[in-house]
Amino acid sequence: MNLNIEEIRNQFPILNQSVNGKPLIYFDNAATTQKPISLINAIKKYYENDNSNIHRGIHTLAERATNAFEETRKSVQQFVNSKEVEEIIFTKGTTEGINLVAYSYGEKFIQAGDEIIISTMEHHSNIVPWQILCEKKAAILKVIPINEEGELLMDEFEKMLSSKTKIVSLVWASNALGTINPIKEIIEKSHAFGAKVLIDAAQAVSHLDVDVQDLNCDFLIFSAHKMYGPTGVGILYGKRELLESMLPYQSGGEMIKEVRFEGTTYNDIPYKFEAGTPNIADVIALNHAIEFINGISKSKIRDYENSLLDYFLQLICETNDTIKLYGTSKKKVAIQSFVLKNMHHFDAGMMLDANGIAVRTGHHCTQPLMSRFGIEGTIRASFAVYNTKKEIDVLVESLIKISKK
Ligand code: PLP
Repeated sequence: MNLNIEEIRNQFPILNQSVNGKPLIYFDNAATTQKPISLINAIKKYYENDNSNIHRGIHTLAERATNAFEETRKSVQQFVNSKEVEEIIFTKGTTEGINLVAYSYGEKFIQAGDEIIISTMEHHSNIVPWQILCEKKAAILKVIPINEEGELLMDEFEKMLSSKTKIVSLVWASNALGTINPIKEIIEKSHAFGAKVLIDAAQAVSHLDVDVQDLNCDFLIFSAHKMYGPTGVGILYGKRELLESMLPYQSGGEMIKEVRFEGTTYNDIPYKFEAGTPNIADVIALNHAIEFINGISKSKIRDYENSLLDYFLQLICETNDTIKLYGTSKKKVAIQSFVLKNMHHFDAGMMLDANGIAVRTGHHCTQPLMSRFGIEGTIRASFAVYNTKKEIDVLVESLIKISKK
C-alpha cells in the first residue's frame, strides 16, 4: 500500500484543529469529504486573477475562465471514461442530476402504465423525483427488496423486469450501508428489456473505478463534494443520443441557440442542460480534486480505506454485543452504520462530538431503508484516505466508554 498518510493529511488544513478540546477526528466523509489545499488555493487564485463570466466574453479574463472551466470537463471525461466530452453536464450535485433526468427524460418518454425500478436502499434523492414523475404520469414505481446484510435481492429484481420497465435507477454504493451493488449485471439485465439505467454514483465515485463505456450505463450521476471536491458542483454523464433526445431542464441564457418571439432553438449538449451562469470557480476547483485522487490512485485509496474498515470491524467484534451493525455485505465501500444497544444514536453522536469525533447520526436520507430494518436511524462512520487506525482506536474507545454510561 505504502501511502504516506501524514503527507496526505498535511494537504488538508481543516484536519489540523481541536474540537471541544480534542484533536478533530473526521469520520463523516460520506456526507462530504474535506478539501485539499490545492483546491482551496485554486478557488482563491480564480477570484484573485481570472474571475469572469464564461463562454460569452471575448476578453482575456473570459477566455481564461472559459478555458479552465472546459479543462475540468475534459478531466471529468477522462475520470469516468466517457466517449465524448459533450456527454459531461455540470449540475449542482447528485440531487439536481437525478431531478434533471426524471424531468427531462421522464416528461418526454414515460407514459401511463410504464414502470420504474428503484431499490429499498436508495437515498431520498433517488426516490422522490421518481415518485413525483410516477404520480404525474400514472406510471408505477417498483422497489427491489434487500436482505438482512443489506444486499439487493437479485431474484426479485429479475422478476420485476418486463417490457413495461422503462427506467432502472439504482445506487452503486449505499450511503447508509456501504453495500456495493452489482451494477454491471443490473445494467445488462435491464437493457435486455429495453430499459434505461441511471446509476447514482454519489458514494461510489471516490472509491470505485468508474468507466461509463465499460458499464454501458445510460446515465451516471455524482457530486464533487463527496470526492474531495467543492460543494455546489455535480456531474451528469448521459449517452449523447439520450441527452440529445431529452427536453431542456431549465431555460434561459446559455442553453439557447437563437431566441425569437416566434420561437427558440436550443443549444447543443452539454450547454442545453447548463442554463444560466454556472458555478465557475468550483467547477475549476474540481479539477484539483481529480488531480488529488489521480495523484494517489483510486485503487490505493480504496485499499487503504478498506483496511481502515476491516480494522474498525475487527475492534468492534471485540467489544462484545453493545454494538449492532447495519450493512454487513462482503462487498462494501468504507462506510459502516451501527447502533449502540443502550443509547439513542443522537445521544451517542453528541457524546462522540464532545470527544472531537465527527460521525453522522440519523436516517441518512434513507428513511425507507431505516423502516426496512425497523429503526429510526444509525450512527455512521465513513472513512477517507486521510483517516488513520489511531483515529479508529479513539472512536472505538469512546464508543466503549459511552456505551457503559
Ligand atoms: N445519493 C447518494 C447515495 C448520496 O449519498 C447522496 C448524498 O448523501 C445523494 C444522492 C445526494 O447528493 P447531493 O446532496 O450532493 O445532491
